[in-house]
Amino acid sequence: METTLKIEVTIEDICEGFVYNELEGKGLFGLAGKLTIQPEYQRNYIYASDGGKREMAVIESVLKGYPIGLIYFNRVSENNLEVLDGQQRITSLGRFITDKFAIKDENGMQYFSTMAKDKKNKILETKLLIYECEGTESQIKEWFKTINIAGVPLKPQELLNAIYSGPFVTLAKEEFSNTQNANIQKWSAYVSGVVNRQDFLERALDWVSTGKIDNYMSRHRKDTNIKELKNYFNGVIDWVSSVFIDVESEMCGLEWGRLFEEYHKKSYDPKKVSAEVHKLYSDPYIKNRKGVFEFILGGSVDTKLLDVRIFDDATKKAIYTTQTAKAKKKGDSNCPHCAIGHDANKNKIWGFGEMDADHVTAWSKGGATSAKNCEMLCKTHNRAKGNR
Ligand SMILES: [Zn+2]
Repeated sequence: METTLKIEVTIEDICEGFVYNELEGKGLFGLAGKLTIQPEYQRNYIYASDGGKREMAVIESVLKGYPIGLIYFNRVSENNLEVLDGQQRITSLGRFITDKFAIKDENGMQYFSTMAKDKKNKILETKLLIYECEGTESQIKEWFKTINIAGVPLKPQELLNAIYSGPFVTLAKEEFSNTQNANIQKWSAYVSGVVNRQDFLERALDWVSTGKIDNYMSRHRKDTNIKELKNYFNGVIDWVSSVFIDVESEMCGLEWGRLFEEYHKKSYDPKKVSAEVHKLYSDPYIKNRKGVFEFILGGSVDTKLLDVRIFDDATKKAIYTTQTAKAKKKGDSNCPHCAIGHDANKNKIWGFGEMDADHVTAWSKGGATSAKNCEMLCKTHNRAKGNR
C-alpha cells in the first residue's frame, strides 16, 4: 500500500461542494465532488449527537489553531477519493461552513455566515494533514480495522460492516440502521441500543446466525437481498409479541434469539402467560424481573432465573439463636431434620456457619421470605431439600 502525505489542502478545499444529507444524517461529498465523505463502510455522522458538543469542539480547535488530527483518504481512481478516517471531522467542518450549526464565542452563538471576516478566513485557510493511500481493497480494509476515529472507537459491528462491505451490508443497513424505519419503535421494546451505531443490525445478525455474525456476513457478503435476515428477525419479534402480549420494560435487550430457538415450537396461551407475568411482577421476593420471561417459557420451574430474595443475616442469626436455645433445652439437634433422624447427628448442635436458611413453605408454593417462614437447617439437609 502506498501513502502520500498532503499538507497543502485547506478546509476551504475540502468543503467545496459539501453536501449534507439531513434525511440520512451524513455528509456526502467534498473537494468539488471528488471526495466521497461517506463510503458504504463508514458509519453515520454522530458528532451532532449529545447536543453537538463534538462538532463544536472541532470548530473551536480550528479557531485556536489546535491540530484536529490526521485524516486518511483512499484514492479509488484519478478523480475519486474516499474518506477512510476523518469523516466525522470533515462533516463537522462542512456542516459548520454551510450554517448547519453555531458555536459560542464572546459575541454569543455564531453561525459561520455571521462570523467576523478574520475568523472565517482562519477556518477556511487552515491546512489539514491528509494521508492519501492507495492499495488493494483488502489492504485498505485491514488497515482501516486498525485505526480508530478520534475519541469514538468503532463498535464491533461497525468494524464488521467495514470488513464485509458490499451489497448485503448496504441493504442490511438500509433496513436495520435506518432511523427513518417506522418499525424501530416496535423493535425497541425488545432490542436495546442505538440504531445508527448498528446495535439493531448486530442483534438481527446475531439472531439469524446464532451468534456467528462474522461467519454469516462473510457467507452473504455478495448477496443482493436480505430476505433471510429480515424474515428471521421479524419471526423472532412476532413470536415474542404474540406470546407476551404486554410490553414490559425488562423485555428490552433479552436474548430473544436464543429463547426463540429454544421455545418457539412449544405452544403458549397468551392470556395465561399474561396473568403469570402480572403475578410474578407483583411478587416482592423476585429480585430479577428480567428472568420472568424465560422462567415462564420454560414451564415455571427454574426459580434460579428469578433470583428469589433470600433471608438476610440478621434474620438468620435471630432464628438460629432461638432454634438452638430450644433444641438445647430438649437435648435435640438444632437442625429440625437431624432431630427427627436416628443417626449420630440426632443431638448435634451445629454452629451458625454450618447451617443455611430455608423457607418452611417453599417460595414457589407461596411461602414468604420473612422470619416467620424461616428455619435453619444443617447444610446437608438444606441441600437435600433442593433449590425451591
Ligand atoms: Zn440436619
